[in-house]
Amino acid sequence: MAAAALVAVVAGGLGIAACEALPSMSQVSPAAAPEPSRGPTRAPAARSGRTGKITYPATGSRKWRTAPASKQTGGEHGMLLRYRVVVESDIKGLAVRAFADAVTATLDDPRGWTADGSLRLRRVGPGQAYDFTIYLATPRTRDRLCASSTDAYTSCRNGDTVVLNVARWVKAVPGFGAPLATYRQYMVNHEVGHRLGHGHELCPGRGEPAPVMQQQTLGMHGCTANPWPYRQGKRYTATPGAYDDAVPAPDTGLR
Ligand SMILES: [Zn+2]
Repeated sequence: MAAAALVAVVAGGLGIAACEALPSMSQVSPAAAPEPSRGPTRAPAARSGRTGKITYPATGSRKWRTAPASKQTGGEHGMLLRYRVVVESDIKGLAVRAFADAVTATLDDPRGWTADGSLRLRRVGPGQAYDFTIYLATPRTRDRLCASSTDAYTSCRNGDTVVLNVARWVKAVPGFGAPLATYRQYMVNHEVGHRLGHGHELCPGRGEPAPVMQQQTLGMHGCTANPWPYRQGKRYTATPGAYDDAVPAPDTGLR
């Protein structure tokens, strides 16, 4: 049933926004925690909050686990949009709720899309009505969901389907110049930004923060990494447009 609904969304020809791509995927360090310290006398406190190693195949089964609802709603005023967060079952080493909470923390952040008081975002749980879905998908399932581009590398958005590629969640991208957590915030805000109607933008100048709708996955073009649509309480945008950046090779999974 879920699969049928999805096909309907894709086939319905809703707006497609191809999203990002990036440079080679081989070198970025995974989100997974490093091996535990071997030092016998030292408590592993610094690592204790990390998740284990995340693994995933290149092609998943398109079966999904849905996160529970969030207790609070992001934003205080304005139109309400409800979203689900789902994770493909083949992705291991990642708790669905922990992933969903990271997504929701980004969307609820005061620098996020709800900042101007015209929008509220609420994560709903299984069986509840929703306006769009945020998928964490394997690289080839990402292609199935996005339909437009089949690079198995970038994330994307297709109508009410917001797709975060687990390869990018785990590896980020070379040349981003900021921590993995920042890249994750960026990919969430960028793809949800498409769902909210925003198109791509260009780097406004060397050394300037990149607008969140710049395809920072594919190249910084002199800008510095920026995951937020609002800065110092103001909407941060730049000239509409996209670069003709090459997309790196398809991700082949992580075991
Ligand atoms: Zn995009």
